[in-house]
Amino acid sequence: MNYVVVGVSAAGLSALRAIRELDPHGDVTVVDEETRPAYSRVLLTHYIAGRVGERDLFLVEEEFYRRCGVRALLGVRATGLDPDGRQVHLADGRVLGYDRLLVATGARAVVPAWSPPGGAGDRGGGGETGETGVTGLRTREDAVRIRKAALAGRPVLIVGGGPVGVKLACALRELGVIPTLLVGSPRILSQVADREASLILERHLARCGVRVRCGVEVREVARGPHGTEGVVLSDGSVLPGRLVVVCKGVEPRTELVGGHVAVRRGVLVSGAMRTSVPDIYAAGDVAECPDIWGEGTRVSAIWPHASRQGRVAGTNMAGGRDLFDGVLPRNAMDVLGTPFVSMGVLDAPAEGGWRSVSRRRGDSYLRLVIRGDSVVGAVLVGCVRLAGPIQAAIRRGGRGWEEVVAP
Ligand SMILES: Cc1cc2nc3c(=O)[nH]c(=O)nc-3n(C[C@H](O)[C@H](O)[C@H](O)COP(=O)(O)OP(=O)(O)OC[C@H]3O[C@@H](n4cnc5c(N)ncnc54)[C@H](O)[C@@H]3O)c2cc1C
Repeated sequence: MNYVVVGVSAAGLSALRAIRELDPHGDVTVVDEETRPAYSRVLLTHYIAGRVGERDLFLVEEEFYRRCGVRALLGVRATGLDPDGRQVHLADGRVLGYDRLLVATGARAVVPAWSPPGGAGDRGGGGETGETGVTGLRTREDAVRIRKAALAGRPVLIVGGGPVGVKLACALRELGVIPTLLVGSPRILSQVADREASLILERHLARCGVRVRCGVEVREVARGPHGTEGVVLSDGSVLPGRLVVVCKGVEPRTELVGGHVAVRRGVLVSGAMRTSVPDIYAAGDVAECPDIWGEGTRVSAIWPHASRQGRVAGTNMAGGRDLFDGVLPRNAMDVLGTPFVSMGVLDAPAEGGWRSVSRRRGDSYLRLVIRGDSVVGAVLVGCVRLAGPIQAAIRRGGRGWEEVVAP
């Protein structure tokens, strides 16, 4: 059997391990435009904060692929797909035939219209800042660039108050830098927290020295003789900064397969990680999967899901049988010493048997979203000891949550 895996990060790496377990002698080729072996994106902000070194980011050493008997084509982009001929075309002109193909191309940082050209998002990451002073945070190169600029004392503006923006603000604060977090929404973490949790965390960040400005829109990058000088807001005011980091979310990198397989926001897959075309699989941030309630499909964009989906895809590609049990949206982070976890559905509509239950002690906060008799979502701040049991309850169907949270 001839396997090709495009993208070797959380999903691609687990897939290739699963393939090798079931098919030790199959022909496996992995392709990734990154020039170095797979690394952890989850650790990028830890690296920026100085908690781990650059070498600690790598998940495998250079020798790994050779030891597994896998042909690794690193530093090469896959540019085209021919599903009828079962071929993948590479940027350097090579063409790879496959029997089974895994698309594990992940996601790229969203680039807003005001962000100057110069590569931002082009390789999934943020692009060069030497010229533009503007970057995203998706790749190791982005992280190295941000850390270097921060250590050189360049004032940093972070645009976007989602999980990556907040994690970066925390990392920079740990490094001794005072970052400014510019958030378009009225509150930070608006997609992954409820209002109360956002406000607790926002106040905490401010107490720790992060400047947070919510409800502001960036119009353009302010430039001067020495490059980036800050950003111009929609009210015309200018905020000074020498490095602008855009953290406006991510979008699945579907371009390789778009037009060939069914794509909504991500590449649509079944629980077996099969796309709409036979023998083409997708896993990780690029994939859009059924949710755990079987009520819709979602792009999940978290490492544990990518890794699990990769394993499922690899197993099925190599003739085994495995199923992903569905996306349960989840977020967990440490906000400068205050833990935060959210999962599942965060809004309780006014009608249809929904309600929410909350309790707050100081800055410790718990809220459950209940549909009928079942817990379907939760937000925890400060004390997150119950996050595991609540998640298990949601996965079991949501009943019995009263016992889980009993004081
Ligand atoms: C700063 C940061 C912090 C994060 N923190 C957390 C966290 O705390 N917890 C958590 O669960 N998740 C976190 N995430 C998200 C997590 O990193 C992703 O969910 C995970 O990396 C997805 O893995 P993946 O394999 O699907 O894709 P990716 O990691 O995006 O990898 C895709 C790979 O495909 C390659 N590729 C893409 N297109 C092509 C092509 N055409 N040809 C060749 N190669 C290609 C890319 O070079 C890349 O190596 C974080 C992400 C970032 C950026």
